[in-house]
Amino acid sequence: MRKEYREYHFDRMVQSIIHFASLSYDGTHKEGFGMFRYAPRFRDAIQTILMTGEPGVLLLKMIDTYLIEILTAHENGKKVALCTFNFSPGVLKPLDVVPICLEPVTTLGVAMWLRGLGEYLNYCCEVGFTETSCSAQRGALGAYLAGLGVRPDFVLCNSIGVCDTNATAFNFAAEYLELPFYQLNAPPTLVDERARTYHRHDFRGLISFVEEQTGKNLDCDLLREVIVETDKQDEIMCEIEDLMRLTPSPVPGIFNLFMYSAKYIYGGSRVATEIMESMLKVSKHNAAQGRAGTTSGKEEARAFSVYVDHYSAQLRPWAWFDEKNISHLGCMMNGFWPVHAPYATGDLKEGTYTMDPTNEETMLDSLADQMSRMPMVKQIRGPYDDPHQWLTDTVASIKTYKPTFCLYTGTIGCRNTWGSIKILARDTEKMGIPTLILFGDAFDHRITSWESMRDRIDEFLTVRRILE
Ligand code: SF4
Repeated sequence: MRKEYREYHFDRMVQSIIHFASLSYDGTHKEGFGMFRYAPRFRDAIQTILMTGEPGVLLLKMIDTYLIEILTAHENGKKVALCTFNFSPGVLKPLDVVPICLEPVTTLGVAMWLRGLGEYLNYCCEVGFTETSCSAQRGALGAYLAGLGVRPDFVLCNSIGVCDTNATAFNFAAEYLELPFYQLNAPPTLVDERARTYHRHDFRGLISFVEEQTGKNLDCDLLREVIVETDKQDEIMCEIEDLMRLTPSPVPGIFNLFMYSAKYIYGGSRVATEIMESMLKVSKHNAAQGRAGTTSGKEEARAFSVYVDHYSAQLRPWAWFDEKNISHLGCMMNGFWPVHAPYATGDLKEGTYTMDPTNEETMLDSLADQMSRMPMVKQIRGPYDDPHQWLTDTVASIKTYKPTFCLYTGTIGCRNTWGSIKILARDTEKMGIPTLILFGDAFDHRITSWESMRDRIDEFLTVRRILE
């Protein structure tokens, strides 16, 4: 890693950008937008977020609060856990633990910095981790391995049996940093009694491990608050998703990113619910006026990403979809599968989770069920076309949101999806949905630049006569 990268801590740098961006709307609109002249390097990303109005401001303030919580955790007597995005953070609140959720923190870096996180990504390989791993963890992980961030106290993982590269990243981090490690395991099935019992036992093991690390017991009153809040935010999120079924979709495409970011960082906390409420208000307002969620209010096509979104290039992909009047209808990362989900119909209902605040046991079971259905942990734990897996979930989203085309952007780093995307695309094409497969990395623009991907999408939309 170059010497200049070692001068400042990664988490502190990201927090300071987000902090000042989140203040920009505290003044007048003119002052806020006037500020962008002086921040040319961050302008596109911040502007794309703030163009959404109140939800964007709340999102930036939420991220700022989250990063401050990480930075001040130790002085506030809290333990810090290094964990993954497909791990419900609500579980850690009643245990008084602050999570560093690697993938969202990677996303912040790649979305804010034009230079991306190449130095940190490479650093993981310099110290021995494989370069054919998922860049979602590797981006921020490089900084933590180099000691350029708050040192975690222990490591928690939720992808053993699901995603080898994700699991190995946390395993490597625990070994390299010499930290205690707990890994939740996922059997290849989801809704049978054996899998359910396994998940619930395993989850109780996680609670005991964290109690041992912190010396504190699970706070049942806080646990109940998390359960009630999770259900409330799930209901609102699903109402927004329900509105996306309308043509035109009144939901701004970037709200999907806001929804899953809020869930990954503050699932079960009031702050995430406030963002959901604000997005619902905007979406309902658009729906009442018959407007699409795009800036022009028009919808010329509808897109669904069967895998993840693309986070580099300062969020310009979202600005481009908006400019083209394409309603972005979310991706696999939005598939949390709460009982209220509009895509969970018929037999698929058995793949959902319910939040039950009755007593400690029902609350722990609820969180274990939720945890085993986090995006990716649910969809790619077994063969792509098994019940409740990638194909079933993609088909459910297609039937619900009726996209005019589907997108996949990934690399060999995600072996599970890269290995089966061609057959999945064959299935979605059979349903009459044009599907474009792109080789690109959501967190590393050095693989394929956004400009190159954009031209391919443009060509595809013309050739398949989706946009004239
Ligand atoms: S499933 Fe793919 S994108 Fe998700 S964590 Fe694993 S490698 Fe990364």
